[in-house]
Amino acid sequence: MNSIKKTIKLYDADAYATEFEASVLSCEKTNNGFSIVLDKTLFFPEEGGQSCDLGTIEGIPTTKVEIKDGIITHILPEPLQVGEKVFGRIDFAHRYRNMQHHSGEHIVSGLVCKTFGYTNVGFHLGKNDMTMDYDGELSALDIRVIEDAANAAIYRNIEIIANYPDSKTLEALEYRSKLDLAQDVRIVTIGKYDVCACCAPHVARTGEIGVIKIVDFYRYKGGTRLHAVCGSDALKDYAEKHDITKNLNALLSTNTESITDSVKNLQAELSRLSSAITAVTKKYCLAIAEGVPSSDEGYLMFDEQLGAGGMRVIANAVAQKRGWCAVFDKTGKNSYNFIIASEKISAKMILATIVEKFSARGGGSDAMVQGSVGASEDEIRNALKNIVI
Ligand SMILES: [Zn+2]
Repeated sequence: MNSIKKTIKLYDADAYATEFEASVLSCEKTNNGFSIVLDKTLFFPEEGGQSCDLGTIEGIPTTKVEIKDGIITHILPEPLQVGEKVFGRIDFAHRYRNMQHHSGEHIVSGLVCKTFGYTNVGFHLGKNDMTMDYDGELSALDIRVIEDAANAAIYRNIEIIANYPDSKTLEALEYRSKLDLAQDVRIVTIGKYDVCACCAPHVARTGEIGVIKIVDFYRYKGGTRLHAVCGSDALKDYAEKHDITKNLNALLSTNTESITDSVKNLQAELSRLSSAITAVTKKYCLAIAEGVPSSDEGYLMFDEQLGAGGMRVIANAVAQKRGWCAVFDKTGKNSYNFIIASEKISAKMILATIVEKFSARGGGSDAMVQGSVGASEDEIRNALKNIVI
């Protein structure tokens, strides 16, 4: 491998080319398939936070493309003959999406740097997402300002230029992602918006980015992480959210401007109803408990839709006059939630009887236990009939 020269990056010269011919320099079997090095390639490797290009070589889909010391390795499930000329084709839809997002990222990072003096310290462009990390805190208003300015740069349809300045020009140049190299530094310039060292393919003009929408942001490692989408991903995101909003408007009989207020009103109504139900349930359950005659024997009750609060009210009230009370609230055919309250014997002991006989779960104290059980009313009554105070 040492004798192999750096791979010629065909995407450097033309980010829009989709097909190429190259010679196979090496092909080695690895755990993941075959590592193939060509003399030149259009495949952009996984590099700088960006996922690699997809495509085929001799019709065989690549599974990964990596770069090390300037040598690009294509991972294929099948081998290629060393010395052969091969034909490669990249998935341009995937590439173009990456180009749109990467160019969008440069505009945003250039603007964040110029406006707030923060450095881009992280970038990830994957299948579903683009994230950008900055080493300072940005507010919602800051982000709105950046988003507006970034989209203004897109409307202006500025040319994006990638070149390798000579060492003298490079030395005098102010640019982001400054490298310790005196030459062979690829500089990507987007008008007055950004100058940055970068090895990735970019769109030719900013208008091709279409739109950039920052969809989320939060504090991250002392700075800010932004999630953003560009181009058709942004349109897809808008379409999905538009559908959701439209459906919610129909469900709530409202319009987009009033949707937040409608949901707040709904929440307030829900809270009021919940309080009312709790109060009514308590009265209802106390009335049920009052109807239970006093006796020396424990009491079993089977009902439904009492809820934990209702069960607790009945169990506590009845236990006062019957020593102990087990309330079973139906959750399905032969399945119940239960609460057992006891003034005299251990509720845990009663629970142990249920657990022993049935598939039951529960826990608590000697005064009160709660749980769930899978058994019929008759089976439960039968199992507990011998429990005495
Ligand atoms: Zn870049």
